[in-house]
Amino acid sequence: MAKILVYTELHGTQVKGVTLEILGRLTGHTVEVAAIGKIPSEASADLAKFGASKVHSLNGAGLDKYSPEGYANALHSFISGGSFDYVFAGATSLGKDLLPRVATKFDAGMASEVTNFIMEGDKFAGTRPLFAGKCFAKVEITGPKPHFVTVRPNALGMNANPTASAAATSETAVDAGVMRAIIKEIVKGASEKLDLTEANIIVSGGRAMKDAANFKILDELANVIGATVGASRAAVDSGFAPHAMQVGQTGKTVAPTLYIACGISGAIQHLAGMRTSKIIVAINSDPDAPIFTKADYGIVGDLFQVVPLLTQEFKNLLNK
Ligand SMILES: Cc1cc2nc3c(=O)[nH]c(=O)nc-3n(C[C@H](O)[C@H](O)[C@H](O)COP(=O)(O)OP(=O)(O)OC[C@H]3O[C@@H](n4cnc5c(N)ncnc54)[C@H](O)[C@@H]3O)c2cc1C
Repeated sequence: MAKILVYTELHGTQVKGVTLEILGRLTGHTVEVAAIGKIPSEASADLAKFGASKVHSLNGAGLDKYSPEGYANALHSFISGGSFDYVFAGATSLGKDLLPRVATKFDAGMASEVTNFIMEGDKFAGTRPLFAGKCFAKVEITGPKPHFVTVRPNALGMNANPTASAAATSETAVDAGVMRAIIKEIVKGASEKLDLTEANIIVSGGRAMKDAANFKILDELANVIGATVGASRAAVDSGFAPHAMQVGQTGKTVAPTLYIACGISGAIQHLAGMRTSKIIVAINSDPDAPIFTKADYGIVGDLFQVVPLLTQEFKNLLNK
C-alpha cells in the first residue's frame, strides 16, 4: 500500500474534476489531498467521498496568486515532511507547469500526462500517448521517491470509493521562499465559460464553419443552453478557433453530458477526445458522415440553418 498525495486546484467551492478521477483510481492506498489556499468544506466532503483520508489547506505569504517558484517552493517544503511515495496532479495548465518544478527539487522521476494507470501493489504503471497520439508508451518511474505523475483530465472517468467516509482536515503554513519572478496580474480570457475539460455541455464546430466569424452562431446556441464552444482540428488549423478550443487526440479530452458536433466528420482523432460524452448529437449535411455512427441523435442538414433553429427552440423552451 502506497502513501500518496494528490495536489488539487480549487475552482470556486469545488476542486477540479480530474482530482476526483485520480482519487477514484487509488482505492486501497493511503491518499491525502493538498491545495494551496483554503479548501472549502463542500470540496472536502467530495474529496472524502472519493477516498481522501486527509485534506490539507496550505497557506502562506505571497501565495494568493499562482507563482511558479512560490508554489513549487511551498509544495516542496510540505511534501518533504510527508514521506509520500507518489504525488499526483491533473495535467492542467497549472499542473503541467508546477509538478515538474517540484519533481526537479526532489531530483525525482516523473510521468507526464498519463491517460491511464494502475497501481500494482505500491508500484505505478502508466500509459501515455506519444507523437501526437500515434503510439502509446508504458511508463514506470525509478529512482528516489516521491515519484510524480500528472494525469490528463477526463481520461480516467469517475469512480467514487464506496468505503470512503469523512476526511480529516488540516491548515498548514507553508513558505513560498525566494521568488525571483512575481506574477502581478492574471488576466482571464474573454470567455467567462467553463474550461472545455470541465464543461457539462459542449457545442463544437468543424471545418464546415468556413470562417471564424461564423462561430457566432455556436456562441449564441451555447449562451442559451449554458455550453462551452469547442472546435475540430480542421477548424483550428484553418484559423477559425484558437488551439485552446481543440477537442481530440492532440487537443483536449472532454466528457460532457451533452456534446453537439456541428459540421464535424467524425475522424478517429476527433472521436478520441470526445467519445466518452454521455449524449452525442451530430449535425452534418452528409448522411454518410462517420460521426453519425457514434451519435445518439443525428440531424442531416445544413448547420447554418439547423443551429439557429435549435437556438430559437431552446430559447422558447427555456423561456430565454
Ligand atoms: C496525428 C493527428 C492528430 C490529430 N488530432 C486531432 C484532434 O485532436 N482533433 C481533431 O478534431 N482532429 C484531429 N486530427 C485531424 C483529423 O484527422 C481530421 O482531419 C479532423 O478532425 C477533421 O475535422 P472536421 O471534421 O472539422 O473536418 P472535415 O473532415 O473536413 O469534415 C467536415 C464535415 O462537415 C460537413 N459539412 C460541410 N458543410 C456542412 C454544412 N453546411 N452543414 C453541416 N455539415 C457540413 C461535411 O459533410 C463533413 O463531414 C488529427 C490528425 C492527425 C493525423
